[in-house]
Amino acid sequence: MRQYDYLVVGAGFFGATFAKIMQENEKKCLVIDKNDFVGGLSFTQTIENIDVHRFGAHIFHTSSEEVWSFVNRFARFNSFINSPMAIYKDKVYNLPFNMNTFSKMWDVTTPEQAKKIIMEQTKNSTSTKPENLEEQAISMVGKDIYEILIKGYTEKQWGVDAKDLPAFIIKRLPVRFTYNNNYFNDKYQGIPIEGYTNLIQSMLEGIDLQLNANYFDQKEYYDQMAEKIVFTGPIDQYFGFCYGYLEYRSLDFITEVLDIENFQGNAVINYTERNIPYTRIIEHKFFNPKPNQTKTVITKEYPLAYEKDLPPYYPINNQRNNELYEKYYTLSRTIPTVLFGGRLGEYKYYNMDQAIEQAMQLARQELNP
Ligand code: UDP
Repeated sequence: MRQYDYLVVGAGFFGATFAKIMQENEKKCLVIDKNDFVGGLSFTQTIENIDVHRFGAHIFHTSSEEVWSFVNRFARFNSFINSPMAIYKDKVYNLPFNMNTFSKMWDVTTPEQAKKIIMEQTKNSTSTKPENLEEQAISMVGKDIYEILIKGYTEKQWGVDAKDLPAFIIKRLPVRFTYNNNYFNDKYQGIPIEGYTNLIQSMLEGIDLQLNANYFDQKEYYDQMAEKIVFTGPIDQYFGFCYGYLEYRSLDFITEVLDIENFQGNAVINYTERNIPYTRIIEHKFFNPKPNQTKTVITKEYPLAYEKDLPPYYPINNQRNNELYEKYYTLSRTIPTVLFGGRLGEYKYYNMDQAIEQAMQLARQELNP
């Protein structure tokens, strides 16, 4: 008899959700994480009475009743609505692409006028079915917006030509012919009032947890502790990169405390020019305003080539990598005692709610095989 039913490697949303559901079904889990904190990239830390998203903006949004009621068991959420702005050559535009953006760009006032311009700008595009991010973007919003708000941002964000990126990445963003600046279409949205770290800590209450615990440093020791393993780290790393390296995009964050009350007037401002090295600046206090925040904390987000020892933030889901992932996935199916999940374990560009949904699904499968 092993000590635990499940060893969960990684205390992010996927791992914490899986462990919570299993605990509630009388299964014993050990959660380990190489960091000295829980929550993975959603880690929040209080600086100057401001919740700082140390690894980039995390805005919780979902359309799933089940996911929303699940997270609300562990935290209270505020009513934050993400309405980022984009700056290009000192002009400010609203995101996502909506009537505010179109009227600023073309001096139009009606949806019909905006649609007409977009149609004119897309009619010469040869493909009926967009094959890459550039074609997809032009088909959604026309050439002007593509050139000003998408191309530069996308190419610095991903480090490759927009023609070499999959179309689905830009489909994350809504296009609306209304004056609605909500970045997401989901029914529920908000930021946990006590921060993401507290949310995850509360999910993990009563579950054995080891921090500063690197699975790969003591793989044999950990492997013999549990009947099954749920691994939420990079799937290629789990298999010793035996088929080659999956590619990721990484980020560097430069955070500053400023002795002023208001730096940019909004939580998120994107800088869409190619020659500005960061993609966006976040001003953390606006995610979760509290009394007595006299200073402000800002973070500039610099995209980086992924190298060993940097965190892998984004899977790069192009054809080469998806095919390579399929090989790892097939290999993973030959070891049914190890289950893979989350953004890195499944090599998918999951949002937090999607990671939770996938973990719920895996837990259900385990409980009702
Ligand atoms: N994007 C863009 N301009 C913007 C914001 C986003 O071109 O001002 C594109 C870019 O390719 C980006 C994608 O839309 O990678 C998805 O953006 P999202 O804000 O969803 O990215 P995340 O917050 O996950 O980094």
